[in-house]
Amino acid sequence: MATGIPPHEKAPDGARYARHARLSLIGRAGQEKIEQSSVLIIGCGSLGCAQAAFLARAGVGRLLLADRDTVQTPNMATQLLYDEQDLRAQAPKAEAAARRLRTINSGIAIEPVVADISAANIEPLIGKADLILDATDNFETRFLINEAAVKAGKPWIYGGVLGTDGMVMAVRPGHGPCLRCLFDLPPPEGRLPPPDVFGVLSTAAAWVAALQTTQALKALACGGADWGRMHTLDIWNGTVTTAEVPRDPACPCCNKREFKFLKPA
Ligand SMILES: [Zn+2]
Repeated sequence: MATGIPPHEKAPDGARYARHARLSLIGRAGQEKIEQSSVLIIGCGSLGCAQAAFLARAGVGRLLLADRDTVQTPNMATQLLYDEQDLRAQAPKAEAAARRLRTINSGIAIEPVVADISAANIEPLIGKADLILDATDNFETRFLINEAAVKAGKPWIYGGVLGTDGMVMAVRPGHGPCLRCLFDLPPPEGRLPPPDVFGVLSTAAAWVAALQTTQALKALACGGADWGRMHTLDIWNGTVTTAEVPRDPACPCCNKREFKFLKPA
């Protein structure tokens, strides 16, 4: 999965990432792969803030952070990278997140992208990444991510949170189902209320983000993740259930390679 990004300067004794490198599941070789990887996070809300903090501290060599919005008052309860200075300035989230992450780890490359992700710009962004993390709050963007990732053959980690519940599934094109194997189309507008209407518990978002980030680290370090297994979380009751998602042999996306969301009418 390496993209030719030079490994960043390491502490002489490798102490910075020792906790991860000492895990037998990651090891020194896995940690080096993580440090040579590039990850695109689409969305810098409650999921994206937590994912980015975990990955910056894990030493991912290059992080691309995409979000069109600015920091607003309701964000402060659940979006862990922002402070009141960002709020007063109504700073673009991608830029505020990048500033904070550089104070956490100055040895990695962090690129903010202040933009609305659309069919017009998603493919070049995905082209820069080894793996994509979904941190959006809407299914239209997820279908776009799914198509662009399948088209490019890049793994991506679906994640959603609403209220105290969440879902996570790792997608590896050609090795299991994609999102359209599971859902033919995004839910009709108004069927799923957005988090700003329904509410979201900060810890539920952090749990979903932690599971997504774990899938990302497994994929980067070992090439393995729980491809095609849907994890459904309820943090209020402390439960996780997992189900295998079958690949749809007639899937218009991963089977027929018809990318309707990348080519809007
Ligand atoms: Zn599919």
